[in-house]
Amino acid sequence: GYKIINNAISIVRNIVNDYVKPGFIALDCTIGNGNDTLLLRKSVGDSGKVYGFDIQEIAIKNTSKLLYKHKLDNRVILINDSHEHIDKYISEQLDIIIYNLGYLPKGDKSIKTKPKSTLESIYKSLQLLKENGIILITSYIGHEGGLLEKQALENFLLQLDQTRFNVLKHEFINQKNNPPILYIIEKSAN
Ligand code: SAM
Repeated sequence: GYKIINNAISIVRNIVNDYVKPGFIALDCTIGNGNDTLLLRKSVGDSGKVYGFDIQEIAIKNTSKLLYKHKLDNRVILINDSHEHIDKYISEQLDIIIYNLGYLPKGDKSIKTKPKSTLESIYKSLQLLKENGIILITSYIGHEGGLLEKQALENFLLQLDQTRFNVLKHEFINQKNNPPILYIIEKSAN
């Protein structure tokens, strides 16, 4: 049934469905098994474009397969490199950027996003983002290192100039088992 208060995953889905229009240019910084990449590809349509990054080749393979299965493997550029290097591959401005931090579900749990490269990447994403564009970051604090990454991320985000960025934190404060935290950043128009 309909709920006003949703979990991080469904909020991301709702925002993508609401915000992303045909022709938009999107970036998925952590493609994993490709669910967010597919969602973005569906939303940008045949006139848009999606870039996707992952450091694991298996993520590129899984995402390619998923897109192919949906006949949506065109207009998607998958890059097997760390998202801290997005500026080497992307020189156009982006409408929406998604991060789903942590490790690959059903994959190697020792390979996960790290504070330094995550912040480096987000710093670059802020430059690549169009005015009125948004960044969605889902952060998991249940796994080892997750809490440190979340703290580093939050310390960085809370210093962003409020005249240039709106930064929202979505957190369930009464749930057990460390539900993910969602940060939403919107770049202001000058
Ligand atoms: N949203 C994905 C999905 O729908 O399946 C799940 C993403 S998973 C939680 C996190 C992914 O980040 C993993 O696949 C991992 O390999 C990737 N990753 C870790 N460090 C990275 C980095 N520095 N650059 C790019 N991807 C990275």
